[in-house]
Amino acid sequence: MVIIYAETWENEFKKTTFEAISYGSKCAQEMGVESIAVVFGNSVNPIGELGKYGVNKVIHVQEIDEFEPYSIALALSDITKELNGKLLVLNGTANGKSLIGILSSLINAAAISNVTSFPINHKPLTVMRSAFSSKGIEQVSSNSDCTILSLVPNALGIISNGDSNPSVVLKKIDSNHKTSILQSEKESGEIPLPEAERVVSAGRGLKGPENWNIITDLAKVLNAGTACSKPVSDIGWRPHSEHVGQTGIQINPELYIAIGISGAIQHLAGVSRSKTIVVINNDPEAPFFKAADYGIVGDAFDVVPRLTETLKSFKK
Ligand SMILES: Cc1cc2nc3c(=O)[nH]c(=O)nc-3n(C[C@H](O)[C@H](O)[C@H](O)COP(=O)(O)OP(=O)(O)OC[C@H]3O[C@@H](n4cnc5c(N)ncnc54)[C@H](O)[C@@H]3O)c2cc1C
Repeated sequence: MVIIYAETWENEFKKTTFEAISYGSKCAQEMGVESIAVVFGNSVNPIGELGKYGVNKVIHVQEIDEFEPYSIALALSDITKELNGKLLVLNGTANGKSLIGILSSLINAAAISNVTSFPINHKPLTVMRSAFSSKGIEQVSSNSDCTILSLVPNALGIISNGDSNPSVVLKKIDSNHKTSILQSEKESGEIPLPEAERVVSAGRGLKGPENWNIITDLAKVLNAGTACSKPVSDIGWRPHSEHVGQTGIQINPELYIAIGISGAIQHLAGVSRSKTIVVINNDPEAPFFKAADYGIVGDAFDVVPRLTETLKSFKK
């Protein structure tokens, strides 16, 4: 049995959840077993949507809210043990990252995080994972009876394979609150960074927060998320939720546009898996150009508004 944690945000499935479902369902097919998604929360809608990605069955636990980490971990561990799950698939989101360690200890299972490949082998389960802040890749195999994988968001893609019309089973599990959320603050960006296919990012070269309109205008025309370098969020020009890099969020968008960012190794650690990198910097010696697919040497205040206007003209 392959169990997949179908993570939601405000009662809607995240894009990364469809990746996890696609991944788990493909693994289940290869292993000749069933795939089962587990959904938490009261009014998740519509659960049947998961069938598009090949899942055979959905277990819906209504009593536990969509993010009560310890309760979710206990429920996932009980379900995995009860069904003799051999593989448990999580998103590599903040939620997934906080669950993987707890689950590994509760189930006594091997845990492999930052997974970037489908299994190369099932016996023993062997996958590739990113390591050393994305500066390297490792091939890892598990000898454990059950293995937990957390997937790097946007790395493996969504596979739509018809409509499997999964059966939905309601399961009663007592919520076991060890922590309570007292207050939460929503990210300011309109598109959540880990899920964004395009990201426009800026650094200290922008000189001050009052200049960010050129970044948000470009992001808007590209339907992109916005990000920034660490010093920019440290100074308070942008919220911490936009900080990408080794100590921030690690992303893998199709397109990453870096504006006025030098390209320090700690920044690259979070963005180097982007499929296409465009760098705009007025210093031709800026290290970021070495990692760029396309580079524009120029003043951001001149280049970016012109780029935005040109892109707008394509849309007319
Ligand atoms: C332990 C550790 C962890 C770290 N983690 C992170 C991390 O997660 N993420 C991260 O980003 N950093 C991180 N850093 C900091 C990192 O080392 C760099 O200091 C930081 O990334 C630099 O930010 P920046 O490129 O915005 O600024 P700068 O290095 O000041 O670069 C500004 C760039 O803008 C260009 N520029 C200036 N004016 C213009 C203009 N008008 N038009 C176009 N370009 C212009 C300049 O040529 C320059 O290349 C970490 C550092 C340490 C020690």
